Amino acid sequence: MNSSYAIAEQPTSDRLPDAGIELSIVVPIYNEEESIPALYERLTTELERYGRSYEIIAVDDGSRDRSFALLRDLAVADDRLRVVRFRRNFGQTAAFAAGFDRARGEYIVTIDADLQNDPADIPNLMAKAAEGFDVVSGWRARRQDPFINRRLPSMLANRLISWSTGVYLHDYGCSLKVYRSDVVKNINLYGELHRFIPAIASWQGTAVAEIPVHHEPRRFGKSKYGIGRTTRVLLDLITVRFLLSFATRPMQVFGLIGLLSILLGIAVNLYLVVIKLIYQVDIGDRPLLLLGVLLLMIGVQFIGFGLIGELVTRVYYEAQHKPIYVVREELNSD
Ligand code: UDP
Ligand code: MG
Repeated sequence: MNSSYAIAEQPTSDRLPDAGIELSIVVPIYNEEESIPALYERLTTELERYGRSYEIIAVDDGSRDRSFALLRDLAVADDRLRVVRFRRNFGQTAAFAAGFDRARGEYIVTIDADLQNDPADIPNLMAKAAEGFDVVSGWRARRQDPFINRRLPSMLANRLISWSTGVYLHDYGCSLKVYRSDVVKNINLYGELHRFIPAIASWQGTAVAEIPVHHEPRRFGKSKYGIGRTTRVLLDLITVRFLLSFATRPMQVFGLIGLLSILLGIAVNLYLVVIKLIYQVDIGDRPLLLLGVLLLMIGVQFIGFGLIGELVTRVYYEAQHKPIYVVREELNSD
């Protein structure tokens, strides 16, 4: 690299005044003391080589080991390292959310602290984002985790999530992702929804891409998750699917089920009335009678759910002035 090239590369951070940071790296950390020194070292090396201005936001999610002490020492010497410490363990999603809230970069990169993701992939993800994608997701094409309890459930879950949300990704679970900052800052995260961000973001009409990234086995410590995650992911998927399609029109889902149920109930009961009155058949001990009554009651309940849903939707959107749309740009608007 000759000197004029080096000079041309330098001013990136000077050119952008105040917090004109290009990249915010968000790292969730829960009891990762053994990994932190190497992680900081590799992140810093790769980011400096990449040459864009950056900040690292380390979120200590209530670690009970020396993670925070290590981060504090590192932060003393490096003001590009910002550290947030939770009072207790709130979970990886909360850690990401705290990072997103604080991020000042134009792009946000999320990465795990356990060295399973490779910081050297960041420039590739960024290059893809520069092609005009709002979300670029890493795909651990050669994932280094056990097959039966990790890779197999994950493979099935990815198929299911892709199919039901319409955002096709091989690897929702990969933490290494790049987001345009304005896209994630618009999203409120709850529970363990962080792995659904690409799908949730699609509601805003975002362009999502996926590229293969490296993955290494965990070197230190233990994974914080077990097979129990699968059920939780499935339940979260129902929430996301519902939010994506019906959050602003609950009556159309519940009401439709309710109406169908009521119509079926009426048909069943009419049939019973006809055979009772015309053919004088006893209907008191027929299971069909039970079914007919049940269908009517369920139908009424579903319509009730729909109405309550409509009220909740109004409270949700109006009390917080949440828009039910997202604008890309406006011309001649005043
Ligand atoms: N993590 C966290 N809070 C939690 C659980 C995990 O901040 O409650 C962090 C953890 O320190 C790691 C990342 O989230 O940096 C991913 O966790 P892990 O490696 O255990 O998940 P896996 O790679 O096994 O899916
Ligand atoms: Mg891991």
